[in-house]
Amino acid sequence: MQLAKRLSNILPSLTLAIDAKAKAMKASGIDICSFSAGEPDFDTPDHIKAAAKTALDQGKTRYTAAAGIPELKQAIADKLLRDNQLTYKPEQIIVTNGGKHSLYNLMMAILDPGDEVIIPVPFWVSYPEMAKLAAATPVFVITTEESGYKITPEQLEATITPQTKLFVLNSPSNPTGMVYSPTEIKALADVLERHPHVYIVSDEIYEKILYDGADHLSIAAVSPAMYDRTLISSGFAKAYSMTGWRVGYLAGDPTIIKAATMIQGHSTSNICTFAQHGAVTALNDSQECVETMRLAFAERRDVMYDLLTAMDGITCPKPDGAFYLFPSIKSFNMSSLEFCEKLLEEMQVAVIPGIAFGLDNCIRLSYATDLDTIRKGCDRIHRFVDKLH
Ligand code: PLP
Repeated sequence: MQLAKRLSNILPSLTLAIDAKAKAMKASGIDICSFSAGEPDFDTPDHIKAAAKTALDQGKTRYTAAAGIPELKQAIADKLLRDNQLTYKPEQIIVTNGGKHSLYNLMMAILDPGDEVIIPVPFWVSYPEMAKLAAATPVFVITTEESGYKITPEQLEATITPQTKLFVLNSPSNPTGMVYSPTEIKALADVLERHPHVYIVSDEIYEKILYDGADHLSIAAVSPAMYDRTLISSGFAKAYSMTGWRVGYLAGDPTIIKAATMIQGHSTSNICTFAQHGAVTALNDSQECVETMRLAFAERRDVMYDLLTAMDGITCPKPDGAFYLFPSIKSFNMSSLEFCEKLLEEMQVAVIPGIAFGLDNCIRLSYATDLDTIRKGCDRIHRFVDKLH
């Protein structure tokens, strides 16, 4: 069987693979501490579930417009105005099957062979693979622990070519949890304003998960030029603990949204109808649940950060967003894959090798899990690294 050539250089998602392995080990009775999942451990808040149940009972079980129901597009527009001071009309918004699908639709809509997509390293696993699926060329920019794993304006300037079509910005970041400050966002915008052929996709899916007073500024809000060329990608998975609902969105240039809608119309059509009704309630009702979960994440971050950085040979910048830590394991002189495989086999702790995100001297730990697991797992990691010295 000859698979399509376009798949020849696509890698499977290592994060999903390790998470599946950890889940299978757990199911077979092994006492696993898993820090692999990029998924809150909370149940979806009851009022959101109730809204979806009501929609089902009311017979909201049929196809909707491919780009989503008007109530949800309006709720998203209201949110973008309320939280980000950005004005969008309904034709500038498409509701997608999670944030992942909004990014995929975008890349399919605007990328051609030969187009370059600038992706800061470390990156969320799917960006380069999506660019390649769209036949474009990912161009990687390696960031350092010293710069907080953030691309600098100088690096961005030096990487833009006439072929650059898209710059991928993700703040707060998966895998590092780092947040670009408003000043840093403006400095990147200054560079991008000088290159009007470059579009920006701003993946803001962790925007609500911020700590220590960190501010989120959408690059689309910096100037009219940035507004015109930025596509905001987001979703409900992380802030509302709705990973399995598969609701996300893309907002921006109406011509691009129309193209994304056409692609969606010929592939998935609308996302699940009653999930859309749940999402309307998520945005329009009280946001207290978001704050409750954020406070729980903040406590877990502090506990895990203190335990990890107390270990000999581990260094880690303190993140101010999302729910990940991205410590360096450079001092152990082994590949991240080897480190993670040994840790899983010898100590039954699942973490993701940094190589999945493009940096082989780091590992990613998710603290979207309970404090007991965090303490137990970190104790095991401590014993593991002590043996490595
Ligand atoms: N973007 C980032 C940075 C992510 O970490 C994720 C999920 O892990 C997504 C997008 C996609 O989220 P979903 O498709 O579940 O909405």
